[in-house]
Amino acid sequence: MGARAYNFGAGPAMMPDAVIDRVAREWQDFHGEGYSALELGHRSEYFSDILARAKSDLRELLDVPESHHILFLHGGATPHFAMVPLNLAREGQGAEYIHTGYWSDKAMAEAAALVNVRIAASAATSEFDRVPDLSNWQPDPQAAYVHICANETIGGVEFAEYPDTGDVPLVADMSSNILSATLDVSRFGLIYAGAQKNVGPAGLAIVIIRDDLLQRARPGVPSVMNYTRHVEWDSMYNTPAAFMIWVAGLVFDHVKKEGGVAEMGRRNAAKSKLLYDVLNSSTLYTNRIQTRSRSRMNVPFFLREPRLETRFLDGARRRGLLNLKGHRAVGGVRASLYNAMPLEGARALAEYMTEFERRYG
Ligand SMILES: *Cc1c(COP(=O)(O)O)cnc(C)c1O
Repeated sequence: MGARAYNFGAGPAMMPDAVIDRVAREWQDFHGEGYSALELGHRSEYFSDILARAKSDLRELLDVPESHHILFLHGGATPHFAMVPLNLAREGQGAEYIHTGYWSDKAMAEAAALVNVRIAASAATSEFDRVPDLSNWQPDPQAAYVHICANETIGGVEFAEYPDTGDVPLVADMSSNILSATLDVSRFGLIYAGAQKNVGPAGLAIVIIRDDLLQRARPGVPSVMNYTRHVEWDSMYNTPAAFMIWVAGLVFDHVKKEGGVAEMGRRNAAKSKLLYDVLNSSTLYTNRIQTRSRSRMNVPFFLREPRLETRFLDGARRRGLLNLKGHRAVGGVRASLYNAMPLEGARALAEYMTEFERRYG
């Protein structure tokens, strides 16, 4: 096996070594039972504890109030682009979307067939270089909900503070920044997140939904797309993703042992600062995002001369700095700094960037 690399991939992303070691230990012989962790049954004596523990640890980590339910569902984040309107809005009702880049765009496009999508604010005119100013904005009180993408994984744009939407439920796609810092969950009606950035393997989604938003699904919504059904069945309406929920639970446990989300917040601020400091003083690299809206999770940047990009990425790979190629929709370079990325990884990348600029800048 090669040395452990720093995986800067945007998702599926780096996982904590402690979790990988634990999975490896139980891979072939789960809890000494003589079967593999891959065979973990949702009716086994272990799984109800695993699910209950994963929920209570997540509740503790994010201080989720009793008014909110926690679900572990299949299918990642994308189904929720449709499930949110199907469950929270009547046909033809309005819903407001804050347009901050690629993922909020996807959510809006999917919802447009199901609800009267209104763009409450957009950063499109400034090429998505910021979260639009919402300080003097208020949603239409008739709107079913306000949707935001808390962190635009591709553009590298993150909300520094969340808008006040009054009585209109705030819905957030937190796929790429859940558990990255402290969060006031009570301000949200619904939070959804694909697991593969900050929590666990791809294919799992976490949903946190306020109780009063249940029972609003449209007639005819299929059961697997109905949040109320999933709450009634405690995430076991159909066979839950048992293995992935087990791994997510190991991650929650690990984050707790490492000091919780407040500590993650401090580390993520420190890691991203290392990279932004290099970018700020560089004439070779550029990041167009306004300082206040810069993501602590995903740091995209471009090299002044695109021909240097391949050289940059090849050199990085030789040093064990992996998966830095930007999203195919935008190109360039992107460093993702989720919880599992150690400070040393961010430092190694910052040092490499500085050296590379000295040589080729
Ligand atoms: C990755 C990502 C998604 C898509 O997640 P899937 O699990 O592929 O459905 C949606 N929103 C954001 C913000 C993401 O980062």
